[in-house]
Amino acid sequence: MSFSTAILTNGPGQTQEVGRVIGEQSQPGDIFLLTGPLGAGKTCLTQGIASGLGVSGYVRSPTFVLATRYQGRLTLHHMDLYRISGAEEAWDLGLDEQLFGGGICIVEWAERAAEIFPPESLWTELDHVDSGDQRSISFIDWPDRYRTVLEQLSTAFPSPQTSNEVNS
Ligand code: ADP
Ligand code: MG
Repeated sequence: MSFSTAILTNGPGQTQEVGRVIGEQSQPGDIFLLTGPLGAGKTCLTQGIASGLGVSGYVRSPTFVLATRYQGRLTLHHMDLYRISGAEEAWDLGLDEQLFGGGICIVEWAERAAEIFPPESLWTELDHVDSGDQRSISFIDWPDRYRTVLEQLSTAFPSPQTSNEVNS
């Protein structure tokens, strides 16, 4: 059984707030795989997750350094695969420590290397809704380990188009 849920936000502050709730609830080993076009809010959501984990300091997109490590309640690895050519190159980077080291892992542009991630990851799709400040954040087929945080999120951020679908 799997679930999907979508949240609409009306500005960067709200997207960060969604992230903060996720970060507060995160457990060691959580992997958040973020997809969506430039400007959809992937880094913004990451900033919120970092703040929920108690990371102090500013989180920027690690596009040029590929992976950045932050220390909060747990270690946060923030990666950006925008410049990667495909899964093979991602394998060569040796992401074992980031993915399986007991911290939290957030990967922007994860679809560039989809097959390297374990099934217990949370695919999170961000997108523009209109030409303004509205964004959608969709959690796709969430594995059971993310159930509590996502149920909490859909209660905290009830948007008109929130859908809770059960696909068995
Ligand atoms: P990405 O990492 O997906 O390329 P960023 O998080 O770096 O996107 O940038 C998102 C941009 O969109 C920021 O400039 C932010 O201020 C703006 N923005 C406007 N509305 C929102 C929203 N609802 N959620 C997130 N970002 C928003
Ligand atoms: Mg980004």
